[in-house]
Amino acid sequence: MSGILVYALHYEGAFNKNSLGAVSEGARLAQQLGTECHAIVIGEGVSDDLAGQLGNYGASKVYRVEGPEGLAQPVVDAMEAAIAAGGHEYALFGGGLLGFEIGAGLAARLDAGVCMEVTSVRVEEGKLVAERPILQDSQISSVHYRSGVGVIIGRLNAFEVAETGGTATVEDLPVEFKAHSLKAKMVQRGEQRGADVNIEDADVLVAGGRGLGKKEGFDALEELAGALGGAVAATRAVVDAGWYSYSAQIGQTGKTVSPKLYLAAGISGAIQHKVGMQASENIVAINKDSNAPIFEFSDLGIVGDLNKIVPKLTEAVKAKKG
Ligand code: FAD
Repeated sequence: MSGILVYALHYEGAFNKNSLGAVSEGARLAQQLGTECHAIVIGEGVSDDLAGQLGNYGASKVYRVEGPEGLAQPVVDAMEAAIAAGGHEYALFGGGLLGFEIGAGLAARLDAGVCMEVTSVRVEEGKLVAERPILQDSQISSVHYRSGVGVIIGRLNAFEVAETGGTATVEDLPVEFKAHSLKAKMVQRGEQRGADVNIEDADVLVAGGRGLGKKEGFDALEELAGALGGAVAATRAVVDAGWYSYSAQIGQTGKTVSPKLYLAAGISGAIQHKVGMQASENIVAINKDSNAPIFEFSDLGIVGDLNKIVPKLTEAVKAKKG
């Protein structure tokens, strides 16, 4: 067994950053292991051009499978077939909800070792070692793969995209999907809320974190941002939970911003968030925990329940504007 197989998700004729990062990481690791990185794409009528693009991120071969894209079970079938054909030692995913589901399904199917939420991977004695943060990201655990297929599921966008200028051969792989894999159907796809706003250009950002409690918590933030003439931003915790669009994520694996005002509501102030917003001219934080780390780098801290404070702030801003 040798080689790394990476699943690449595409939508409307393009691969997302998460998938390109995973292919780049697979290629980097394959080179260190002295083996090859192969990618797999699934979809209806995927063009040579689209599949071949993965060569530029280090894949030497791309398996193209005719089947439904964007659903986990058909991808599990396709990856099982690719591994049976190619004898890959590792399967790598870029994370996100679909990556987690496919990776877990594949691990169960192959009785393979699996590690998820991986933030980096290294080579040790000819084998891959995955690192994942544990205990609320305060410690790192190293996971070694010893035998059989090793499944590695990254955190969303944890792996850097790197163009190599290489090319890939595209190989059609026939797959017989299991009956249960074709039971789910894609009915509709759409953008998440907030995806159309360019937060890097906004003078005022109203950012929300897990303290909002639920997706609908963003309604009040959008109202406040509207009153202030600004835009809404988010932490990774809420983006991963599907409450807000990734395009609004601030931090290490999101965007770096420096607005005139950054109002953080229900955000703890983790270092990975701080690096994306610390250059803001004025930072105002609302948090019910007076010991929250965000207060250490805020210009103004408000200790209290955001559900009470945010609507009052909105009212006050609207009243001032008349
Ligand atoms: P929490 O840490 O859960 O904080 C929620 C806060 O809300 C708490 O402080 C709580 O006191 C407060 N709260 C709860 N209820 C209320 C209420 N009613 N009123 C007021 N306050 C309330 N994070 C990012 O944001 N961006 C990144 O790009 C990013 N990249 C990462 C990359 C790596 C490699 C790793 C390991 C982590 C990354 N993270 C990133 C995750 C980061 O470590 C934190 O987990 C995340 O920022 C926490 O998000 P949060 O503040 O929304 O949630």
